[in-house]
Amino acid sequence: MASVKALYACFQMFSRVSGLEANVEKSSVYFGGVNQQLQLDILDHLGFLKGELPIRYLGVPLSTKRLSLAQCRRQLIKSVLFSIQTFWSQIFTLPKKLIQLVESVCKRFLWTGGVDNSKRALNAWDKVCIPKVAGGLNIMDIQAWNKVAIRKLLWNVCTKKDKLWVKWIHYYYGRRTTLWMSQPKQASWIVQKILKAGKYLEEVGLQEKEFILIRTFSIQRMYRKLRGEFPKCSWRRLICNNYGAPRWVFILYLNLQGRFQTGDRIAKWSQIEDLTCPLCAREPEKAEHLFFKCEMTSQLWERLLEWQGIKKRAQGWSEEV
Ligand SMILES: [Zn+2]
Repeated sequence: MASVKALYACFQMFSRVSGLEANVEKSSVYFGGVNQQLQLDILDHLGFLKGELPIRYLGVPLSTKRLSLAQCRRQLIKSVLFSIQTFWSQIFTLPKKLIQLVESVCKRFLWTGGVDNSKRALNAWDKVCIPKVAGGLNIMDIQAWNKVAIRKLLWNVCTKKDKLWVKWIHYYYGRRTTLWMSQPKQASWIVQKILKAGKYLEEVGLQEKEFILIRTFSIQRMYRKLRGEFPKCSWRRLICNNYGAPRWVFILYLNLQGRFQTGDRIAKWSQIEDLTCPLCAREPEKAEHLFFKCEMTSQLWERLLEWQGIKKRAQGWSEEV
């Protein structure tokens, strides 16, 4: 108690001299190993609120320990799905289990628009994460993005960026050795993860010498580089820069992948009574029929082509695509 009083007296003296005062409502005291009565006495003396751990700065919990699932779940789900990559994953190495959880929420949201019910996924997630020109939806691969973000932290360390945390790491762990690939055992989990990132870079053939020559590290650029090239698909023009309503483009995308849920496909895993086309009520509901062969659809095509002055008849799905 005596030392708290002495510290507070110094603090008040500083306030009197400088004219700067602490905002009592925004100040908190954090206790560790202090009994209840003493805590009350200290809070009474200072007039500050009692703070709860973890300490937050700009909404992010400041912790050097591994993030527990329960600790982040709420914030992450609340985050606008993928904005977490550009925010959270640049600050922390996200635990694998957490990435899986976020991905499953994203998947359910993508296929169903909600997060609760889990219907069948309409396409494999790794296919969704590749660029549009290669037949994907260009959704970020959270794990890969997070790894690159941590490499940026390593780049900050290796290029000795003028940041307090970088100086701190050099001061504590880099006095005798180069930090690239070093594994200081006493370092916290997050520092070890950052330093370990060098190993992954060497795996893709990037050495420290080249790494430190990178003038500005762009996570986006490095992410693309490390993922490599994907073979372009023949129908990319139908999806890229298609200004149709997103819903139509999505249906088109699913059908190009052979994943559109038409009656014949649904009947494979679930019982449906009526398999006939809802447009003509004659033929079975199949993608080929629905989009081109159906009487009603072909009339629609005919009028559309005529309106556009195109002198040809619509063929089947495979011919047109
Ligand atoms: Zn029909």
